[in-house]
Amino acid sequence: MDTPVEISADCSVDEFREAGKTFRVAIHSFSERDAEAATLVDGLRKIVRSEMAMMPSPDFEHYTFIFHFAPDVSLGDGMEHFNSTDIVIRGSPADGLVEALETAAHEFFHLWNVKRLRPQSLGPFDYTHETYTRSLWFAEGVTSYYAYVHLLRAGLWSRQEFLKRLAEEIRQLESEPGRKLMSAESSSFNAWFYDRSPQMQETNFANATISYYNKGLLLGMLLDLEIRSRTGGRKSLDDVMRAMVQKFYEGGNSSYYARGRTYEEKDIVETGNEVSGADFASFFEKYVEGTDPLPYATTLAAAGLELRATVPPGAAPSLGALTQREARGLKIVAIRPGSGADRGGLSRDDVLTAADDLSLATAALDERLKIYPAGAQVPFTVIRHGKEERITVALDPPPNSYSIEELPRATPEQVNIRELWLGK
Ligand SMILES: [Zn+2]
Repeated sequence: MDTPVEISADCSVDEFREAGKTFRVAIHSFSERDAEAATLVDGLRKIVRSEMAMMPSPDFEHYTFIFHFAPDVSLGDGMEHFNSTDIVIRGSPADGLVEALETAAHEFFHLWNVKRLRPQSLGPFDYTHETYTRSLWFAEGVTSYYAYVHLLRAGLWSRQEFLKRLAEEIRQLESEPGRKLMSAESSSFNAWFYDRSPQMQETNFANATISYYNKGLLLGMLLDLEIRSRTGGRKSLDDVMRAMVQKFYEGGNSSYYARGRTYEEKDIVETGNEVSGADFASFFEKYVEGTDPLPYATTLAAAGLELRATVPPGAAPSLGALTQREARGLKIVAIRPGSGADRGGLSRDDVLTAADDLSLATAALDERLKIYPAGAQVPFTVIRHGKEERITVALDPPPNSYSIEELPRATPEQVNIRELWLGK
């Protein structure tokens, strides 16, 4: 189960050495092998170097990245294994290069976080039962945070790109109504029920859930900055990760599947407290177990940074519904609570065929709505239970987009934290 195999007649294999270990890159692609394969291997080498420099040397001689590039997979994916990863990308190495590197940065960090530093119940596995854990926000989300951190440290991302991607993660969480209902722990625990799992009956998951990848990544960022600012830059989340691996993996008995201890939620707080000398109990209560709004502003300010929410110029006002394209127009799959669509009486399964008599079968919704100001009353033609109706909706303001900017008059303390975090 933990040793994936790719069988193909034309799989290319590259190899490099880093920190005394051998790394192999196996690429199976349905397009011609091209310059991008060399660029991919070069990028992987930088990622490996950066992550190996931060974390304790792992207990293997070789590690294998297996890439499967195919034009006809429905959704890309990556899976972590004990000393390998299996990454599936839709498209060719040319158009999938960026995604391949970003996925690899995440999967390679799993080598420590999940494969060796394991949450309680994630291994040894009984594959006949589901496995519940409250820690996926840490196992997956913090792994995603470190993928971003190492893409920055490896020089594959600029500082601007790093901050832009974090701001995009903030936009994603802030656009989810579920952030007020579901905590990071609860999202982890309930993954079995909604994370890519099919549902025979209708659910309100679109409005009631969040992604533990997304919120976990942001919690990783906030914890890192909090530890840095509370210790005057002497410690960071890096120290917590290393301490966790030492406490819960190294020095155990010799078989991997019985090896070491697993950690529980309380162990993350305790290790954070030990490393930083600060008390993170209320942070965890509010933001990990609870659904309090995340403290972006104060935490980013400690690093001389500011979160700015703006409405992008020319952005279309919002209807407040999630839709799916079908032949006649747009089928509503979820209504955002309290939105224009909600107040106006639109409903799930309604098919919007026209806005103000302009067809929605031939243009994107935003294309049609961007000519209106927020608050405009727009009559929609709707097919409901096979009958055509007119329903008028008052449009909401466009959703915010976010950016993280450097404070122009930051203090030397703030600049110190920022430079330690973002590097030179
Ligand atoms: Zn993962």
